[in-house]
Amino acid sequence: MKQSIVFLFVLISIYSFGQSSTISPKNIEKHISYLASDELKGRGTGTKDEQKAAQYIATFFNDLGLQPKGINGFEQPFKANLDTVHVLDARNVVGYLDNGAERTIVIGAHYDHLGEGYQRGSLDQDAKGKIHNGADDNASGVAGVLELARYYAKNGVKENHNFLFICFSAEELGLLGSKFYANNPTIDLTKVNCMLNFDMIGRFDPTKPITVGGWGTSPTWGQVIPPVMQREKMAFKIDSSGAGASDHTSFYTKKIPVLFFFTGVHSDYHRPSDDIALINFAGESQILNAVTGILNELDKLPGRLEYRETAMPMARNASFKVTMGLLLDYSFNGPGIKVDGVSKNRPGETAGIKGGDLILRLGNYTLNTIYDYMGALGKYEKGQTVEAEVQRGAEKLMLKVTF
Ligand SMILES: [Zn+2]
Repeated sequence: MKQSIVFLFVLISIYSFGQSSTISPKNIEKHISYLASDELKGRGTGTKDEQKAAQYIATFFNDLGLQPKGINGFEQPFKANLDTVHVLDARNVVGYLDNGAERTIVIGAHYDHLGEGYQRGSLDQDAKGKIHNGADDNASGVAGVLELARYYAKNGVKENHNFLFICFSAEELGLLGSKFYANNPTIDLTKVNCMLNFDMIGRFDPTKPITVGGWGTSPTWGQVIPPVMQREKMAFKIDSSGAGASDHTSFYTKKIPVLFFFTGVHSDYHRPSDDIALINFAGESQILNAVTGILNELDKLPGRLEYRETAMPMARNASFKVTMGLLLDYSFNGPGIKVDGVSKNRPGETAGIKGGDLILRLGNYTLNTIYDYMGALGKYEKGQTVEAEVQRGAEKLMLKVTF
C-alpha cells in the first residue's frame, strides 16, 4: 500500500511537472495563430483589430488570475502620435503576479504591428491595403510573454520576485507604448530588478546563434546566462547595448538592467510575408525554456541587480571630433534619422533642431541610419558650419549647424 502511494505520488509529480513546468510549442502556436491571423489585419496601432488583440491578452491574463495593473483593468490607454496631425488611441496591456516580494521582474513584448500598411514602417513597395500579419514581429514575442505568464502563475512556486507582464502598443511608431509605461508606471519602478524584452523570437534557426541584447547593462548577465544556455544547448551571441530598436530601451533609460531576446532579421521583416507558416514553434519553446532557466537563477540572487550604463551604439566606432547633442530614435527606419530630443546649448539646439525632426541630410551626406550620421560627423571639425536638411511635419527646413 505504502509503496503504491509513493509510486502514485511520483507519477503525479511527473505529470504535473510535464503540465506546468515547460513551455509547449502547441500553446505558442495557438497564440500566434490568432494574433497573426488575417482576422486581426496586422494589429495596426489604434485600430479595432489591435483592440481585439488587447482583449485576447487581457482575457488570458485574467484567466491566469493575474492582477490587472493597467488603468482600465488590464489596459493602460495612451495617445500615440502617428505624425504631427494624427493622434491614435492606443493601449498597453498589463498583468501582475504578486508574490508578496520586495522586487519585481518585468517581462514585455510589443503586440502592435504595421496593420494594412497605411501607417509607416512597411518595407513593401506598395504596402497599402496589404495585411502585415507580423507573425514573427511580434506575435512571437507576445506568445512568449503569455506563456511565461502561464508558467509563473501555474507552477505552484512562490518566487522571490513579483512578475509584471506587459504587452506594449505603438512600438512600431517609435517605442511609444513602452515609453509611456516607463514614464507613467503602475508599479514602483525603483523596485524593478530587471526587464526582459521579446521582439521577434519566432525564427529560431538551430544552425545560428540567437541574439541576447542588453548584455552590458548588468555584470550579472555574464555570470548567470552562459551556464544556463550551455545546459540548454542553445548557441547565442551578445549585444552589449542597453539601447536598441525595441522596448527594452525605455526601461534601460530608467536605469534598469535589461535583456533582449531576438532570433534575427530576415527577408520578410516588415513585409506582408511575415507569416505564421515560417514560425519555428519548437525553436521558440526552446528559447522560452532557456529563459525560465535564466529567470529561476535570477530569482535566487539576493539584493538588487547592479545596473551598468552601456556605450551607445555610436561609441563603438567613435572616431568623430564633433557632436550635435541629439538624442536619436534608434527604432526609426528612415528616410532620415529621427530626433527624440536635443541637449541644451549644443550645436543641434543652437541650429534650431527640435524633438520630432527628421534630419535627411548633413552637409553632403544623406542620412538614413544612425551609422550614416556617425559617418558624417566623422568628416567635420570643430568650428565648421554645415547645412542640415530637416523635415518637420510637412515642412522642409535648411538649418545651419556650427560644430
Ligand atoms: Zn518588433
